[in-house]
This record gives sequence, structure tokens and C-alpha cells, in this order.
Amino acid sequence: MASGIGSMGSSSLFPLPSLDEQVALAERHGLNTLLFCPDAWALRHRFINEDTGEVMRARCNSWTCLYCGPRKVDQWRQPVKAAEPTLFLTLTKAGHTVDECWPSLFH
Ligand SMILES: [Zn+2]
Repeated sequence: MASGIGSMGSSSLFPLPSLDEQVALAERHGLNTLLFCPDAWALRHRFINEDTGEVMRARCNSWTCLYCGPRKVDQWRQPVKAAEPTLFLTLTKAGHTVDECWPSLFH
């Protein structure tokens, strides 16, 4: 009897590759950047919320990082969307961090 992830149906037309083959595919295509920041410093550091015990991976927070860059874009997109600019918005005048820019966009 078959067991494991690839055996959910009675017969599988497209069986999953072995774990080693999946790892090789992920490395070849850089899929690890979808899951965590690949920066060497970030890989060695964690942040622990002392109240909840939640552990978070550190991030390099660089615009060019394949993991951190898209998350930074999303962070900055939120206040811009909320401010509903009708012509244009100069973010360099709004603040250096996302937290700094929120109040300056809404007064
Ligand atoms: Zn990063």
C-alpha cells in the first residue's frame, strides 16, 4: 500500500518528485527567497516576543532583497493607498520610515 503526500488518489498521473529532487528544484530556482530572507546576518538572528513567545526571523530589510523588497513595497503601499492622493505624493517628504509617514500624510 502506498503512503505519503503523493498518494492521495487511487492513481496519480503526476507523482511528486522525491524530496531530494524537490530540494534541488527549490535551490535551482531560488524558491527559498519566498519563505525567508536569505541575508547571512538575518539567517543568524531571531526576534522573540517575550509576552507571546512568538519567534520571528530577522530580515535584512533591503529593497533589493527578493524576500524583503516586496514586503517593503507592500508596507509603503498601505499608507499611500490610505492617503488617496489625487495628483502625486512625495514620499521623501513624508518620513524615513513607514511609521513616520502615517501622521504626515493625514494632517
Ligand atoms: Zn532580506
